[in-house]
Amino acid sequence: MPDNSLAIEGKLALIKLPEAKRPFLVRIRRRKGRLSGVMQNGTSGSQSPDAIAIDSINSIICVFPNDPPFGRAYNIPLEPYVASERLRPWGNVTYYRKLSETEQRNFQRGMIRAGRRLHELKINYLLPLDLEVRQSHGKAAGMYIRARGDGNHHIIISPTSFVDNGGAKHISRIGLHEIGHPGWQLYMTALYKARWVRMYHGFNKIRALSTEDLRQQLTAFSSSRELPSAYRKDLAEDAKIVFDAILDWIKKAHHLELKFLDILVSAGGGLGKYWPRSSLHLSELVIPVTAYSAKNPEEFWCESFSLYAMGETLPRSIRGLVRRTIRRLQPR
Ligand SMILES: [Zn+2]
Repeated sequence: MPDNSLAIEGKLALIKLPEAKRPFLVRIRRRKGRLSGVMQNGTSGSQSPDAIAIDSINSIICVFPNDPPFGRAYNIPLEPYVASERLRPWGNVTYYRKLSETEQRNFQRGMIRAGRRLHELKINYLLPLDLEVRQSHGKAAGMYIRARGDGNHHIIISPTSFVDNGGAKHISRIGLHEIGHPGWQLYMTALYKARWVRMYHGFNKIRALSTEDLRQQLTAFSSSRELPSAYRKDLAEDAKIVFDAILDWIKKAHHLELKFLDILVSAGGGLGKYWPRSSLHLSELVIPVTAYSAKNPEEFWCESFSLYAMGETLPRSIRGLVRRTIRRLQPR
């Protein structure tokens, strides 16, 4: 190894090992004259960052002169910050996002409070569980990663903010929601899961549109002399659901999206030819917990459980099922 290696010591670099599919982001280190790279992007709830030996300078794809910001390079996510600590009663926390003092305090308080709630509800056997604090990618504020093979179960905490939306309280709620997932996936009996599926389904309303309804809908639309998109915009919420169901059907049956229907109508054509002829079903799912609960019965449980554990009010039937489920999850 030439001695210009000194110049890259301490820098972040992307290295590519012959057997690996993708490059790794590492911080270059020199010990006893040998170069290695300390892994920066955690992959599986890693305990402490691993170091990879750099045997050939050729495996280095690029060296960053300064630490790059959060982003991507060579299609690799760059989360160049890494730090870790123990946080009881959780487990090992790996930070891939640098938190300010306030953010850090809110995170720790929130998670400790969530841990205390699990203890009070006597389901703290779900812990310890490793945590990863990551940049928000705009989607989920948290995620439970179920271990495969000998990997670690862990939870990713990635809210857009550690300060807004209630600060520590928001963090507690994310932690409790995520702990609902191993509760469901690993410990809940099929009998109880079925109860959640049935309750979830109980909020789904299926309405049938008869051929007569459909005819009336077409008449109302045609006599408006508007483009479908403009017509849709002016509809009341209820009527919009019906019109959308018709549009969905047209899209599925005729492969024509709204904007193409607009073209047909603006050229003087009608939609009668494309309108559904036989009866149509439309379903509406509104769960009186959170909008996200409508995603599926497992998320419905996680949302209900976290709100219950936070002491929020829930509709009686849901609160009852949360209580019974928690009781069933407690060790006997
Ligand atoms: Zn979830």
